[in-house]
Amino acid sequence: MDLVLFGIQGSGKGTQAKRLAEEFGYEIFEAGGELRKIAASGTELGATVKSYIDTGKLVPFEIIMKVVEEAIAARSKDQKLLFDGIPRDLDQMKSFDQILQKTGRTIVAIHLKLDPEEGVRRILGRAKIQGRADDANEEVIRRRMNTFVEKTIPVIQSYESRGVVTEVDGMKGVDEVFSEMKRVVAAK
Ligand code: AMP
Repeated sequence: MDLVLFGIQGSGKGTQAKRLAEEFGYEIFEAGGELRKIAASGTELGATVKSYIDTGKLVPFEIIMKVVEEAIAARSKDQKLLFDGIPRDLDQMKSFDQILQKTGRTIVAIHLKLDPEEGVRRILGRAKIQGRADDANEEVIRRRMNTFVEKTIPVIQSYESRGVVTEVDGMKGVDEVFSEMKRVVAAK
């Protein structure tokens, strides 16, 4: 069974993804990370992708879904995947569901919940360490947060109605959050 992690920027999703992957043997598919690799490739596609990332807007549907579809096709069915940053809106969700169905994969999801203002504070702190341009600009951060609230929350609600998502409080400390997430995954 695959795992989908949802969480507003700064929720600690990336950190927890790494720990869960190690604990349970998932391979991580990080949508933002894959897109940042393309943005750095020096191609025309890379320049397009970079323009979206730098302004904090979602990269067009066709581009991201092709990346996801190819990544899934390249993995053995036995390799459990942890999806971080996908699906981010209802169109992506529909397409993602179809890809999963076609490839015989099933998912459970966790929503790592965090107060958005705490997210902004954490990201501005992270920008100083990781040097990501889209983390250093508060306006861009807030645009990404708004996109999460407007577009990704409806995806989480849809998963809730299917009973596949569990909420975990991201305001707690890293280790406490990890213990709780571990419990959720182990119970599935
Ligand atoms: P993240 O690392 O998850 O904060 O994502 C960084 C940026 O990558 C986002 O602001 C978007 O521009 C882009 N991105 C990441 N995931 C997606 C996605 N599923 N769909 C479209 N754009 C995405």
